[in-house]
Amino acid sequence: MFSKTDVIEKDRKYLWHQMSSYNEKNPPMVITEAKGSWITDLDGNRYLDAMSGLWCVNVGYGRTELAEAAYQQLKTMPYYPLTQSHLPAIQLAEKLNQWLEGEYAIFFSNSGSEANETAFKIARQYHQQNGEPTRFKFISRYRAYHGNSMGALAATGQAQRKYKYEPLGAGFIHVRPPDSYRRPAGQTVEEFNLECAQAIEDTIIWEGRETIAGVIMEPAITGGGVIVPHPVYMQKVQEICNKHGVLLIMDEVICGFGRTGAKFGHMKFQVKPDIVTMAKGLTSGYLPLSATAVRKEIYEKFKETGEYAYLRHVNTFGGNPAACAVALKNLEIMERENLIERARVLGDRLSAGMMEIKDHPHVGDIRSLGFLMGIELVEDKESKKPLALEKVSGVIAECKQNGLIIGKNGDTVAGFNNVLTLCPPLSSTDEEVEFIIRTLKNAIRNRF
Ligand code: PMP
Repeated sequence: MFSKTDVIEKDRKYLWHQMSSYNEKNPPMVITEAKGSWITDLDGNRYLDAMSGLWCVNVGYGRTELAEAAYQQLKTMPYYPLTQSHLPAIQLAEKLNQWLEGEYAIFFSNSGSEANETAFKIARQYHQQNGEPTRFKFISRYRAYHGNSMGALAATGQAQRKYKYEPLGAGFIHVRPPDSYRRPAGQTVEEFNLECAQAIEDTIIWEGRETIAGVIMEPAITGGGVIVPHPVYMQKVQEICNKHGVLLIMDEVICGFGRTGAKFGHMKFQVKPDIVTMAKGLTSGYLPLSATAVRKEIYEKFKETGEYAYLRHVNTFGGNPAACAVALKNLEIMERENLIERARVLGDRLSAGMMEIKDHPHVGDIRSLGFLMGIELVEDKESKKPLALEKVSGVIAECKQNGLIIGKNGDTVAGFNNVLTLCPPLSSTDEEVEFIIRTLKNAIRNRF
């Protein structure tokens, strides 16, 4: 085995980290083991991972059943592309239809970004084959994250992630998110949400409805600060999309697979998307896999218009048999352990616990949907000015010192770095939720 100094030195020498720059004084955690909700670093320190890695380890770490499923599949048939077919992909596509409670054709890829890119290509080609070739634009919301590739990043509404890499994919337009906490004075939450939805229709009309291919949104904006809409918002968005022949694409990369206390987040709002994209919780992060689920009527258009109608879209690894086998087992675990119901119960417990700190002068807003929470920190409740980044980071550091990993949103350019995020495994125990509440509340109180 390497010594710790060796490991850190080699890390610094060879590894390019995501979203971070580390130095000698501030090295990354090197995680060596993970079990349940807990991760262990090279020094043997244990942390409760209340972010499920990057919002994905829904069934918790260390499930040998998932390792076993991958092993068995790798032995039997490790790889074949989905230009042809194989059993794990067929079985998983069938299972996803059950989870989606509708008829969908499933296209597999490897990451959430790719699932969204696939959705954009399908939407554009669908309109072409449907006799409306001028529909190419997509509408999405500021503060949303949809992925790192040139199209998915163009759909992303966070300036910080984009401005160094432009120009990105063309044809993406952003509208205001339904951030009810920051609604104009005198407006009810419902009025404000309706106004935000109306902005989508206005944009469709101003841009020319015959140019709009789709609207892409998460059921609740997650990484951008856990912005949960009022149900009237989603209902109205659905109505607007139907009225103008615009496809509704739901990015369920985080909200899918039980996180919100429903199979998929959009079910909480009783909408029926045309396309659903998913990744992360599909395999709980054990292997890379994503999917773009497309309503059957749309899929049919790719068959009926002749030889050149098929989707000109391929990826080498999408639907890898072992990844599909892991996903199937992962969904089986969620069903067997009632993890969707559990997300509701744990979410309620977390909300009740954190609400006790609602009156703290720096706690502006506490928002949740299922077992997903955002705590917006402000300089003061009156001005709602986002709390300075160093102070927010201080809370996160204090949690870490006490064995708790939490996250935060971040858009330095737009000045929003002030929402603490929680997205613990759905398999968490009651005691673990109490630990999260206690540790986070203490960190906020001790810091200020
Ligand atoms: N959509 C959403 C809502 C996401 O949160 C993410 C990842 N954080 C993505 C898409 C992109 O997924 P990936 O990182 O797997 O490409």
